[in-house]
Amino acid sequence: MSAKTYIEPQTTIPVYDECDVLVVGGGAAGHSAAIAAARAGCKNVILMERYGYCGGDVTGGYVLLIPNLSFHEKTYVRGIQEEWFLRLRKFPGAVNGPDASLAGSFDPLLVRAWAGAGGATHVPPQMVCHGFMVEPNQLKIEMDLMLDELSDRIRVMYHSWGCKPIMEGDTCKGVIFESKEGRKAVLAKYVIDATGDADICRLSGAPTSSAIDDECRCGTTALVYRIGGISMRKLAAWRKANPELGKALAEHTQQIHGFRAGLIGGPTDDIGWVNNWQPKMDCSKIKDQTKTEMGTRLKIREVIDFYRQAVPEVFGDAFLYDIAPQLGTRGSHRIVGEYIIDSNDWVFPKQHDDVIAWHTTVNTLNDNAPIEIPYRAILPQKVNNLLAPGRHISADRIAIDNVNLIPQCVGTGQAAGVAAAVALADKTTTRDVNIRKVQDILAGEQDVPLPRNAHTDASYQENYEKWEKGLYTEAAKKAIEAKDAAGTYRHWTISGGMTQKRATEDLGHE
Ligand SMILES: Cc1cc2nc3c(=O)[nH]c(=O)nc-3n(C[C@H](O)[C@H](O)[C@H](O)COP(=O)(O)OP(=O)(O)OC[C@H]3O[C@@H](n4cnc5c(N)ncnc54)[C@H](O)[C@@H]3O)c2cc1C
Repeated sequence: MSAKTYIEPQTTIPVYDECDVLVVGGGAAGHSAAIAAARAGCKNVILMERYGYCGGDVTGGYVLLIPNLSFHEKTYVRGIQEEWFLRLRKFPGAVNGPDASLAGSFDPLLVRAWAGAGGATHVPPQMVCHGFMVEPNQLKIEMDLMLDELSDRIRVMYHSWGCKPIMEGDTCKGVIFESKEGRKAVLAKYVIDATGDADICRLSGAPTSSAIDDECRCGTTALVYRIGGISMRKLAAWRKANPELGKALAEHTQQIHGFRAGLIGGPTDDIGWVNNWQPKMDCSKIKDQTKTEMGTRLKIREVIDFYRQAVPEVFGDAFLYDIAPQLGTRGSHRIVGEYIIDSNDWVFPKQHDDVIAWHTTVNTLNDNAPIEIPYRAILPQKVNNLLAPGRHISADRIAIDNVNLIPQCVGTGQAAGVAAAVALADKTTTRDVNIRKVQDILAGEQDVPLPRNAHTDASYQENYEKWEKGLYTEAAKKAIEAKDAAGTYRHWTISGGMTQKRATEDLGHE
């Protein structure tokens, strides 16, 4: 970057609109926040999104798997996340995954039928896990519909890029945005930063961090593309019959691209998805964004040509179906909130009075058992009336890998929306919000199971206890043994399915 600077002249900015709750970013977190705030009684919500659709990474980055919503028989991640599944399954090809009622089944036929679709990486014996794959365009439509159903309460501003918080002392009072209409402002009583990269929080005076462990998936970007004219079932059969060639196919794909890339199945048999993990990339840096976009696209034809020639019986008619409209952003800046989710929270589970989500995750260390996510993890330090749900949640540089998947983004977004609505109704700040009320609305009318809440059926806690909080895994037992006398633990972290199992020294939070 050049060392030169330019002083932008002071200017007067028109106020485009005013609202009670402004949500910046319409991804899994922001969309859920807007919907939840409106359903919790807020009548004046604005959702501001830089692109022309909602969903962020899920619909625009072609992330297809919404994994691990259940632990044994019970589905802990419900609320708006389950609503996606129930709404989408009415449309052919829109969603694929086992129903919640099948969760926890050890029936080998059911396990085989749903392998992969629930995303589970349970320790043996394998069981069915509730989870699903989505078709991104169908989800875009459904997300619009959900907003449209609340059009008397939510105004949507697409193609509007939030660029700066409006601060009065420590309180956030709105956001300045750029659009084809120029630079304007939206004033708001409460702001929810759901940009994924803490765009608003970063400029508000709230502390943020971008420290990521190199081995974590959050340090990788992606540009996902899809291949049509194939049958994933045929490919699976070919791989089974030719395991060595299957390995060679994957290795050669990696060689062409220069990073790990793999063809995986989606909700329909006729389309394969090339997911990829481009290491040491920061999705908030122009150079890394450009390299991810161009670098991937320049190699796609070569990969498909190779497939057609190498395995004509599967790829003979293969063609480039499409490329994700936006780069896949796994992690960059995140808030350092009032609570930092710790890598140890899986083996030494904590009870939080301000729990807002009780989520099964992708951490095989506790066999994906639920952990409690506190409100303080979406509450930035130092500033008032600003919340930060979604993939920039407050977590240490390893833990972040396990708590910023789609379910946690939807769940923390939903909680942020309810919290803003409660703060508005009670005329409190987001810091002083009546958390009991927030929990009661979530666990009651918004269908979010929470521990120790009267609205949540006792069977959730019983299931959690019955299956020993998932701490029956060998890795968990070792980690518990490794706890030293002083009560400080070695950080043993496993990022299920995504990165490799490993044990690390105490990393602190940064
Ligand atoms: C390739 C890839 C594969 C993944 N695989 C999985 C998986 O299999 N399962 C899983 O659960 N998770 C997966 N993840 C992670 C998961 O998809 C994301 O963490 C999650 O979707 C993030 O949701 P979010 O709403 O917090 O952020 P985002 O999806 O990034 O949404 C942020 C939204 O805000 C908008 N925005 C950003 N900045 C601004 C601004 N300044 N002004 C206005 N709007 C703005 C964006 O356009 C976007 O719509 C994957 C991620 C990637 C990239």
